[in-house]
Amino acid sequence: MLRIAQLSAGYSGVPVLHDVSIEVEEGRFVAIVGPNGAGKTTLFKTISGTVAPMAGAITFGGVDLLAVPAHRRPHLGIAHVPEGRQVFPSLTVMENLEMGAYTEAGRIAWAETLERILEWFPVLGERRGQPAGTLSGGEQQMVAIGRGLASAPKLLMLDEPSMGLAPAIADFIFERLIEIRRQSRLTILLVEQRVAEALESADHSYVLEAGRVVLEGDNQELRADDRVRQAYLGM
Ligand code: ATP
Repeated sequence: MLRIAQLSAGYSGVPVLHDVSIEVEEGRFVAIVGPNGAGKTTLFKTISGTVAPMAGAITFGGVDLLAVPAHRRPHLGIAHVPEGRQVFPSLTVMENLEMGAYTEAGRIAWAETLERILEWFPVLGERRGQPAGTLSGGEQQMVAIGRGLASAPKLLMLDEPSMGLAPAIADFIFERLIEIRRQSRLTILLVEQRVAEALESADHSYVLEAGRVVLEGDNQELRADDRVRQAYLGM
């Protein structure tokens, strides 16, 4: 579904990503893990179009994504839930969710999608009329994920959904992602610093260090890999 080939990208002519190749097959849950500053957010921005690549190719469902302007990419079925949540603080929970339903697919599916979002995150139903800025960090993350789902995407990209959350709340978010994927067969691409949780949630992962893919594998494999165990799992 998403194919990234030999991608280099960065800022002001200085590359952050070097020769990155990543494949996400339809229906899979893929994680990209790695330390702070590895270039994970830059990779997502290149996919959604706010950073222009220096070299390489990205195709989505066979379409040359780099030829599609950033504002059109959500309409192809790509939703990007950004780092730091970025909800609209003065708008209500419901208004934030509705803002996500701006694609044609999202508008058509809106009633059904909303029902599912509220099943997955019942607290959002309880807080539907409350300004999103008054919610807890975990609840705001649920709004951000719900807003991504509201566009009825084929691919949901999540940039560090656990950031700044207490472990129990982060675990809940990971558990919900697994459930959403199980029920909806959505393709998920997750970027995470919490490597253990990401490797438990996804079925295939890439390790990105200093802008390069240094390791790739199905999660059983990666969890058994000595380098991953030492560097990321504290074993
Ligand atoms: P984090 O988890 O801290 O967000 P990351 O893996 O997502 O890390 P990026 O945010 O992609 O990493 O940053 C990778 C590198 O690119 C860092 O060295 C960062 O300083 C640099 N960088 C990020 N954004 C910009 C920018 N707008 N201009 C210049 N350099 C940037």
